Amino acid sequence: WWSADTLAVVTGANRGIGFEITRQLALHGLTVILTSRDIIAGEEATKTLLEQGLKVVFHQLDIVDRESIDLFCAWVKEKYGGIDILINNAGVSYNTGSENSVECAEKVINTNYFGTKNITKALIPLMRSSDEGARVVMVSSRLGRLNGRRNRIADVDLREQLEDVESEDIIDSTMSKFLEQVKDGSWITGGWPQNNTDYSLSKLAVNAYTRLMARTLSERPEGQKIYINCCCPGWVKTAMTGWAGLTPPEEGADTPVWLALLSGQSTSGKFFAERREINF
Ligand code: NDP
Repeated sequence: WWSADTLAVVTGANRGIGFEITRQLALHGLTVILTSRDIIAGEEATKTLLEQGLKVVFHQLDIVDRESIDLFCAWVKEKYGGIDILINNAGVSYNTGSENSVECAEKVINTNYFGTKNITKALIPLMRSSDEGARVVMVSSRLGRLNGRRNRIADVDLREQLEDVESEDIIDSTMSKFLEQVKDGSWITGGWPQNNTDYSLSKLAVNAYTRLMARTLSERPEGQKIYINCCCPGWVKTAMTGWAGLTPPEEGADTPVWLALLSGQSTSGKFFAERREINF
């Protein structure tokens, strides 16, 4: 359904899974805006893809910087009028292996959840109308599944509220409560996920937000639909996993790209891994 005029934006695309998503979307013939918070890294990544004959354009974008978001959106609006696909890939994690430090919790929650939410909100008004619908793909993680068996929030009421949020306030206040407990040291007994606690929570927030947005966006009229889904790329060999992951970035990018290009789709608010829907 797409063409060279179909425009996709990928965040955190200078390396890792984001770079691969950009490459694969461009190989499918789309035009891709490769974004990166670091200009030199982004330009170098773009040059590599341009040398392969792919249609890729670079623009700076730091998802935790309001000014950067505003400048990016103004540029998109002026140059293209709008976009068709947003892949929210940018993310950070500071835990490796079984280590569970929350030293960088604020950075992790601010980037993975608030940054992702802010760029999504800023770009939704720029998503173009089409019969196929515009798409938002959240590169999330199985660690943040709302109903995860082994890595879940202990408070059953809070878990139930998060599984079916009516507004983003409950997600935001849960993140604030966690960060307060990190500051006063009480997070250890706070009933939070036990594995990669801050990272897992940030992705849980992304998953809850995806479900909420899917419901909100479903009210848009035919022809102006926007579908939003989240996915897990697997355990991928990138800087984030200290290159320990088992899946090559090419495979990690597969499900996000597949989700972005689904034809005749009306799927929204779901979670996918290895091209399959997973209960979350
Ligand atoms: P990398 O660390 O290789 O890449 C992360 C990318 O995000 C980098 O380009 C980084 O930029 C960028 N980024 C970080 N903060 C910001 C910001 N504020 N604004 C814009 N870009 C930013 O990790 P991966 O490729 O492995 O991860 C990509 C996504 O996949 C993440 O969301 C991650 O959580 C998710 N994921 C990864 C898994 C894995 O096993 N690797 C497993 C499950 C999910 P810079 O180069 O400047 O640091």
